[in-house]
Amino acid sequence: MSQKSVRLYNPGPINVSDDTFNAMGAAMIGHRGSDFVKLYEDIHPKLQALFGTEGPVYLSTSSAWGVMEAAVRNLTQKKVLNCCNGAFSDKWLNVSERCGIEAEALTAEWGSPISPSSLDETLSEGEFDVVTLVHNETSTGVMNPLNEIAEVVSQYPDVLLVVDTVSSFSAAPINTSENGIDVVLTGSQKALALPPGLALFTVSEKALERANSTPNRGYYFDFLEFHKNWEKMMTPSTPCISLLYGLKHQLNKIFNEGLDERYARHMQLNSMVHDWVEENNFQHFAPKGYRSKSLTCVANNLNIDVPSWIASMKEKHSLIINGGYGKIKGTTFRISNMGDETEESIASMLDALTDTLP
Ligand SMILES: *Cc1c(COP(=O)(O)O)cnc(C)c1O
Repeated sequence: MSQKSVRLYNPGPINVSDDTFNAMGAAMIGHRGSDFVKLYEDIHPKLQALFGTEGPVYLSTSSAWGVMEAAVRNLTQKKVLNCCNGAFSDKWLNVSERCGIEAEALTAEWGSPISPSSLDETLSEGEFDVVTLVHNETSTGVMNPLNEIAEVVSQYPDVLLVVDTVSSFSAAPINTSENGIDVVLTGSQKALALPPGLALFTVSEKALERANSTPNRGYYFDFLEFHKNWEKMMTPSTPCISLLYGLKHQLNKIFNEGLDERYARHMQLNSMVHDWVEENNFQHFAPKGYRSKSLTCVANNLNIDVPSWIASMKEKHSLIINGGYGKIKGTTFRISNMGDETEESIASMLDALTDTLP
């Protein structure tokens, strides 16, 4: 590659390995033939294992937001409760409203997790038929207590739970069936370490039934279209076949490493970043017990000039982290440890951070 590459330690898009790019260069195939069916059949059981479901996993040629919007459009008949505690989850409320859907926020402060007991209290009002949750709030580094939240929602049989696992998928386990989650969705450019442009999602039978009686689902993101085509191991429209070659390659790498080993590696690399935070007298933005395993959101309690620090690490070491997102830009910074990273690569990234620290 002729372009000078900068290694990405911002939480997405992240580094894509050369072997993955090479796999993406395989010859094109038609999407209505047996070659495509074979490709889908190859990746499908591995995706089911990662999602923790025996149900269908659909492939959407879009970024994650396509499916996030689709979920509220396909499933809300009464009112959606959007759990809001960071930039991505806050935006989901706005997206629901833009779709003309009745929506309300259940908020927690940025940096705090969603409270299962507040959720219970709100759902007991009986107004809602869908809840959206961002599992790993990439903007704040908070990992919400998914099991407890799913437990609360399961007490309300008419309420469907939709979970964004965009920045936690394949970095931490997701037990879709066990937790009775109705929709789990993710995107390609975070922990899966693929280029952007592909979203993956699973939908429960109960949610498909709901969609069936929801009007105005549109076409491109109609869950029933995905399901009808999935039955033939195909997609409603022409998919991003090259990204699917990359996905097949990444899934083989993931299962060669082993899921438990992969989750353990993410924990280990995350703890290396945490050690660096503490050694350099920074504080965490997220409270203990609710910290993400795939990225670290650091409070800029030392008031350093984050943009000029990032400029110097880019200049001197050809790598970057992220200088904070949304309303906490500058007062926080974020370091990703997701994807194909190793102890060596994370150690050398942390050395570069120390070396350029103002
Ligand atoms: C990155 C991210 C998204 C947005 O994904 P797009 O690919 O931009 O659609 C949504 N949710 C979370 C938690 C994310 O980290």
